[in-house]
Amino acid sequence: MCLDTTVTTSGEDKLLDFTVKHSYLRNMLRPLILALTVILGKTQDRISYDNHYLVNLKVANERDIDEFNRVLAKEQAHCQSLQVDLSEGSHDFLCQHHEERNGLVHELHQSQIPFEVESQSMRELLLSEKQPESRNAIPISSKFNYNKYPRFQEIVNHLNTIEKENPGVVRNERVGATHENRSLILTTIGNSPMGQDTRAVWIDAGIHAREWISPITALFLIDRIAEEFRKEPYQQDQRIVGVDWYFMPISNPDGYEYSHETDRMWRKNRAPPPKGESCYGVDLNRNWDVIGFGIGASNDACKDNFKGTKANSEPEVRAASKKLLSVKKNVRVALSLHSAGQYWLTSWGYKTQLPVDNDKMVSLGKKAADAIFRTSGRRYKVGSAGALLYPAGGASDDFAKARALIPYAATIELPGSHGKRRFVLPASQIRSVGEEMFAAMGVVAEVARNHPLGDDPSLMEEAKRNNG
Ligand SMILES: [Zn+2]
Repeated sequence: MCLDTTVTTSGEDKLLDFTVKHSYLRNMLRPLILALTVILGKTQDRISYDNHYLVNLKVANERDIDEFNRVLAKEQAHCQSLQVDLSEGSHDFLCQHHEERNGLVHELHQSQIPFEVESQSMRELLLSEKQPESRNAIPISSKFNYNKYPRFQEIVNHLNTIEKENPGVVRNERVGATHENRSLILTTIGNSPMGQDTRAVWIDAGIHAREWISPITALFLIDRIAEEFRKEPYQQDQRIVGVDWYFMPISNPDGYEYSHETDRMWRKNRAPPPKGESCYGVDLNRNWDVIGFGIGASNDACKDNFKGTKANSEPEVRAASKKLLSVKKNVRVALSLHSAGQYWLTSWGYKTQLPVDNDKMVSLGKKAADAIFRTSGRRYKVGSAGALLYPAGGASDDFAKARALIPYAATIELPGSHGKRRFVLPASQIRSVGEEMFAAMGVVAEVARNHPLGDDPSLMEEAKRNNG
């Protein structure tokens, strides 16, 4: 189907988007919409990060965090963590008052916690995000502007264009709606060369709002894969055209728009606060109904990793998981695009213990990472999410593996600024990230095409191992 292509310019149109197509209904709802717009307008001032700066701590143990908090209190400095985990390792903090940072830096030196202060202010980093690609642009036949981060409606418009330009190959489908009534879109590409036995690849993107490189990379891949299908057969990459592709290119449109309009560092969706609470949003990558739900997640609605009041409570997760289960017989590889840090993270995410088929999943990751390195020179670390980073349950990759019984599942952390775990990446790098992921997709498609159909038996083996 062709999705509504209304270009939104105001809060009012945004609320009407996709839902109110009939003018009489539009007129009836107008007073309510205007009232809502006024209320939202009063409370939704844009959060400015102009006078913020980034501090990176190398945390060895909990004492380091305590010591850091002591220094913050002494200096009356306000810093927010950019990571949801508080395990050992590298932690980014966003601190206020750039001009007053010298006092904090001095105290941190005294405290002997290893740290680094980003020389660029947050304002400079955010300006660099708008920096377009100047030369040596990688050619792609698409007319879409891959030199900036698009708004949700621009993504929808381009998906419609791709569908129109690739009849019979690309199909867009509205599979659900968000709390703010934006469409949840599934884009299917392919011509099922093996009929019902055609293997498929699933890719969801944009689950976390502030990870802007994720949806645009999915859009780039859709564009690039569709282009492959348009070529003469002898020119086509047979790996790419040999499978079907399911994309959810922007899985959290409300959060994404909020991160553009109001808070660049917003991570969750825009679920209204639970009863008796005042904070919005659920972490959509902690809300999937799968073993491990609740691990590495918060019960506090104000936290960035709030798991929701129950598993599968969020419309974004319900729509994606329902669709994934409906195509699981064919989907051989399920990927989730996030940022940042350049990781190819295999299941399990909810525990550090490796799955029985760890070697198989890591082998695909390593081949993909090699293809990425040959294309862009960037290196991705490969390994299980729970072991390499920190255990976190209720995520889409574990759902794909444990509930949908799909043989290969991975979360890909795309690059961030300076390759670090930061969500701001200059727009000039959008194409190179897209191209490196397209190279990885060749490897992914080949593995998918050669894998048997049906439920993955590894979970049964794992149950036997655990019982025996
Ligand atoms: Zn993420």
